[in-house]
Amino acid sequence: MTRMPTEDTALSQLHDVVHEVADAMRRRADRGAVADYIPELATVDPSAFGIAVADNDGNVAAAGDCDVPFSIQSISKVFTLTLALGKVGDNLWRRVGREPSGSPFNSIVQLENERGVPRNPFINAGAIAVTDVILSGHQPREALGEILRFMQFLANDKAITIDKAVAASEQRTGFRNMALANYMKSFGVLTNPVDFTLGVYFHHCAIAMSCRQLALAGRFLSHSGKNPETGIAVVHAERARRINAIMLTCGHYDGSGEFAFRVGLPGKSGVGGGIFAVAPGKASIAVWSPGLDAAGNSHLGRIALEALSKRMGWSIFGA
Ligand code: GLU
Repeated sequence: MTRMPTEDTALSQLHDVVHEVADAMRRRADRGAVADYIPELATVDPSAFGIAVADNDGNVAAAGDCDVPFSIQSISKVFTLTLALGKVGDNLWRRVGREPSGSPFNSIVQLENERGVPRNPFINAGAIAVTDVILSGHQPREALGEILRFMQFLANDKAITIDKAVAASEQRTGFRNMALANYMKSFGVLTNPVDFTLGVYFHHCAIAMSCRQLALAGRFLSHSGKNPETGIAVVHAERARRINAIMLTCGHYDGSGEFAFRVGLPGKSGVGGGIFAVAPGKASIAVWSPGLDAAGNSHLGRIALEALSKRMGWSIFGA
């Protein structure tokens, strides 16, 4: 493909910035603490750092451990939300809200006041309710297959799999999520057997992807709902905008305000240390550094995204 000189300049600037950010992160000693409440996640090397940026012209700039698969954990919630909206449309909002929670990711406190309806699809309770919607009418295995195939389709990569050891580890120790699910079930918010819904939830959180695969999978959210390479519409532009809005307001648990303040991009973090972020109209981004901050978000991941967004002038609030 022949490129205009200006496009080449922009692309080489992006490559330079991505490599500079990765180098700067590699040199830092502050790395946060790896999540250990899911025992299998505690075994991950805290010194890993990866970054990949897929722009809307079909280029990928990537550095560090950008091809190492990691546990995407709560980042899967962006994609299960997309699937559930595809299945039941705006009826989804009867089962889950769309307001920031101001609470930790696994909090149960608001559920009692709000009669079992979770604040938003990105806290654990909300994602479990969304998973229940996807499961309805299917066997757990089919629902999980649908979620995995969706990820493979979006990233155009059939090699993406579920890390069964991580799923089993969470299934053995996920007492808080079991409490959340049982509590919602008591209010009639979950319609399937709790064990089935949780089984699907734990397994989609355990999908393993690299930064490159994740950045490619998320391109539809930076390109008005369409895959920029194939032109295939995944969702309508309005739905992509709304998913981005929920990522901006709710994507980092009780650290969502801080992320918007510092990075200025819609994003979703996971306790595996990944963050997926969107520069609307420009690029889909994935970073991974396993050490977390106090709010449960990747410590260096957030710092890397802040540097990238600043250098590229990508904050949605202005350059
Ligand atoms: N599977 C994790 C849990 O439910 C996801 C949490 C996260 O990534 O924030 O605890």
